[in-house]
Amino acid sequence: MDTQVGIVGGGPAGLMLSHLLHLKGIDSVVLESRTRREVEYTIRAGVLEQSTVDLMVDTGVGDRMKREGRAHQGIELRFGGRGHRIAFDELTSGRAVTVYPQHEVLKDLIAQRLTDDGDIRFGVSKVRIHDHTSGTPKITYRDSEGNDQMLTCALVAGCDGSRTSIRDLIPGDVVRNDYFRRYPFAWYGILAEAPPSSEELIYANHPRGFALVSTRTPEVQRHYLQVDTDDSVDDWSDDRIWSELHARVDGEGVEIKDGKIFLKSILQFRSFVCEPMQHGNLFLAGDAAHTTPPTGAKGMNLAIADVYFLSKAMAEYFANRGRGRLDGYTETVLPRVWRTQHFSWWMSSMLHRLPDEAGFGHQRQVAELDMVTRSVAGRTLVAENYVGTPFE
Ligand SMILES: Cc1cc2nc3c(=O)[nH]c(=O)nc-3n(C[C@H](O)[C@H](O)[C@H](O)COP(=O)(O)OP(=O)(O)OC[C@H]3O[C@@H](n4cnc5c(N)ncnc54)[C@H](O)[C@@H]3O)c2cc1C
Repeated sequence: MDTQVGIVGGGPAGLMLSHLLHLKGIDSVVLESRTRREVEYTIRAGVLEQSTVDLMVDTGVGDRMKREGRAHQGIELRFGGRGHRIAFDELTSGRAVTVYPQHEVLKDLIAQRLTDDGDIRFGVSKVRIHDHTSGTPKITYRDSEGNDQMLTCALVAGCDGSRTSIRDLIPGDVVRNDYFRRYPFAWYGILAEAPPSSEELIYANHPRGFALVSTRTPEVQRHYLQVDTDDSVDDWSDDRIWSELHARVDGEGVEIKDGKIFLKSILQFRSFVCEPMQHGNLFLAGDAAHTTPPTGAKGMNLAIADVYFLSKAMAEYFANRGRGRLDGYTETVLPRVWRTQHFSWWMSSMLHRLPDEAGFGHQRQVAELDMVTRSVAGRTLVAENYVGTPFE
């Protein structure tokens, strides 16, 4: 046996799993197709739930996040030109979210794994898993120097993201159910050098479409606009982006602050869940098993939650305490996965302009937002789900 756990994918799921296993005395190898630089500089998510923050701090990878990340005690839901605050601290007994970019989390995890003599193999290709229903699965791959290699292990974790090829090893015709939903809108995301437009994130419902005002640092802002699914990055000039953000967000107490846009991207919306998330000695975690629309800021957090439970199950197995937890992995994590899917779908449906529903549909959304924001129960529902439920 070359290692106890072979992990395919060095994103939040794969790297956090390797880190948690190490703390439990379990050896792993992470195979990652991108270079270390690509992993550390690709811009993706940026909102950490309270449980993700706590786990990072408790396991020794939270120092920089505590220094450089910013805790947000609330968000604003904006409709009819007015803001309505959801106060996390008051509604959830002090829980909050922290804005700290995903690639910074990855930098911290990689640095810690390397400090702990962890084995991360970047730049691999042609990764294939063999015999995953046997006691000695094997992973074959080509290393970054072009040499073909083989890794034998006891367990395999498929953490290779939403474009996973590993998921297909769970037989689709007999055991696997895939649940999929496509949404009729996309997000146009920008990073801009500009001062913050607001201290907290703003989720704006507007007849022209949704907008999200968010931040990365005091100097860099991350904003999103709802666009059509077939829009391309070049369809939107800088002027058009800023004027649309002003139109959708400006109003009582808020005015978007323009700046220099230095990154543009389009993000399509999908909900996906694969059940079960395991087969034999193969276990899926993170986007390989499920994707959520980004409205609830959940993808990275759900990936971290999966591997929190998976690492515990693997530890029990390697401590010769049986396969109970390992066999029950899907059952353990699936309720959280579906609650998260529901929250992300609900926020998306309540906040975006729906095609062909401009009149009645928009008024219905405004009524729903009014109902949610005017009652403590409604605000608590949003707050509890946004900051995330505790792992245990
Ligand atoms: C473009 C994009 C933008 C996003 N933006 C947001 C956002 O703004 N807000 C938000 O909340 N969420 C966002 N998300 C979602 C969030 O980033 C993901 O949910 C999160 O990254 C999931 O972590 P993961 O480890 O499961 O998968 P990933 O982060 O995708 O990591 C998978 C890793 O596996 C590697 N890999 C893939 N195939 C192989 C292979 N065959 N062999 C070896 N390695 C492989 C990949 O290179 C990657 O590093 C975004 C996702 C994407 C794709």
